[in-house]
Amino acid sequence: MEKIKLTGRIVTPDDSEYEQARINNNLSIPKFPSKIVFCQNTEDVLNALRWVRENRTPFRMRSGRHSYENFSLVNDGLIIDVSEMDEIIINGKEITAKIEAGANLGHVYNKLWEYGMTIPAGTESSVGVIGLTLGGGIGMLTRLFGLTCDNLIEIEMVRAGGHRGAELIKANKNHNSDLFWACCGGGGGNFGIVTSLTFKLHRISKVSVFSVTWGWDDFEAAFNAWQNWAPNTDERLTSQIELKSKEANQIIAQGEFVGPSSKLKELLRPLTTIGSPTSVSVKEVPYIEAVRFFDVPSGNRPALRKKSGSFLEKPFPPKAILTMKQFLANAPNENSGIWHQSLGGAAGRIAPNETAFYYRDAIIAQEYLATWNDSVEERQNIRWIEELKRALSPYTTGDYVNFPDRYIKDWPTAYYGDNFKRLREVKMEYDSFNLFNFPQSIPPFKKWF
Ligand SMILES: Cc1cc2nc3c(=O)[nH]c(=O)nc-3n(C[C@H](O)[C@H](O)[C@H](O)COP(=O)(O)OP(=O)(O)OC[C@H]3O[C@@H](n4cnc5c(N)ncnc54)[C@H](O)[C@@H]3O)c2cc1C
Repeated sequence: MEKIKLTGRIVTPDDSEYEQARINNNLSIPKFPSKIVFCQNTEDVLNALRWVRENRTPFRMRSGRHSYENFSLVNDGLIIDVSEMDEIIINGKEITAKIEAGANLGHVYNKLWEYGMTIPAGTESSVGVIGLTLGGGIGMLTRLFGLTCDNLIEIEMVRAGGHRGAELIKANKNHNSDLFWACCGGGGGNFGIVTSLTFKLHRISKVSVFSVTWGWDDFEAAFNAWQNWAPNTDERLTSQIELKSKEANQIIAQGEFVGPSSKLKELLRPLTTIGSPTSVSVKEVPYIEAVRFFDVPSGNRPALRKKSGSFLEKPFPPKAILTMKQFLANAPNENSGIWHQSLGGAAGRIAPNETAFYYRDAIIAQEYLATWNDSVEERQNIRWIEELKRALSPYTTGDYVNFPDRYIKDWPTAYYGDNFKRLREVKMEYDSFNLFNFPQSIPPFKKWF
């Protein structure tokens, strides 16, 4: 039989574009693949999977390059990159969109906006819709429209098997339904290479956005007011709060309300009446301007980083808030922070076992952030994140699989809770040889384990 050839745009270490093609958003875990294939169509993806199987080459798949732990990279192997497959086809009659797996959020929002539509997804424009959706997907419309994966109708995926070792399959609620269940929160990289996602869309026009800031002295009062208000207020309002380091001296709450600014001002009263806000702004804008408002340029730029996170199922007691304050008073540098987003609403009305995304009872998603400029600072920053996470663990639950952390020991429970067993069964059905693997990938279910 003729040997399989890689097809698509291929970049190797000898090419001048290799460095740019190799790096991800997190520069602190560098990897040096032997080849990167930028697939242009499904046939290229099929060929890439056949090629790695025939040549027994380690591989990873990649799209938006935002994996915190660079699970989309591997040393001395092939990167199957789908980012140049980013076509979006809108079906205005059915109010759906078929989005190729390489599209990033910026492209998705801009394209759908041309039709006055959107999906609920994340805030940074360079994040890949694929990685985000497969792990759940939270953002500024979560409480109104649910997680990104809750709006998924169907996926197309190249899996191992079939003709010469790779085949294209579909999964939805009626067909390959177990795989579809697993793709709604089970995380990227586990079962096959997704080539397209079909979503139901939501009509959107004007929204209102807000921003309230406080200084360090209002730390406890501002966070406490936000945590008791944000998950319980009007469902059309999703918000975030970032607690910055003492040096940065800023607590900033922001959010998006699908309704008029007059109503948002009313809803905000439990926040704006707390402490002494240094600024308050509320404005009504076309939806796409709200998208740009939350898209922070520094998040999109590659940097030396460490992030981790957790969920809150109930508000923090004063002791936990004080713990955060102490850590932020002794942060490695000014850019360290703790970020939160409100959950509940539509995302909380789905049972934990209805999709693979387990933490439906969470009221808040929490994230710990550190960035630095020189690799000698790495140890100190990582230690700060891990110690902070440990100190807050008596008050938090689980971890979001889209905020992976290689230091989590019991990651199966942390990411998937009671859904882990079923995920392993799905893995056994679709990738029993564990071809798709990385340090925290779902292993196949073997009865004798
Ligand atoms: C700056 C920043 C902002 C973020 N903001 C948000 C946010 O607002 N909301 C939120 O929920 N999350 C957010 N995240 C987390 C984000 O959801 C995850 O990092 C997500 O995995 C990124 O997907 P990606 O395609 O960009 O990354 P990649 O690194 O390309 O891929 C991530 C994972 O998916 C796998 N994968 C890639 N392509 C495919 C494919 N075609 N088929 C199957 N698996 C594939 C990879 O192998 C890897 O395991 C943010 C992350 C960063 C760094």
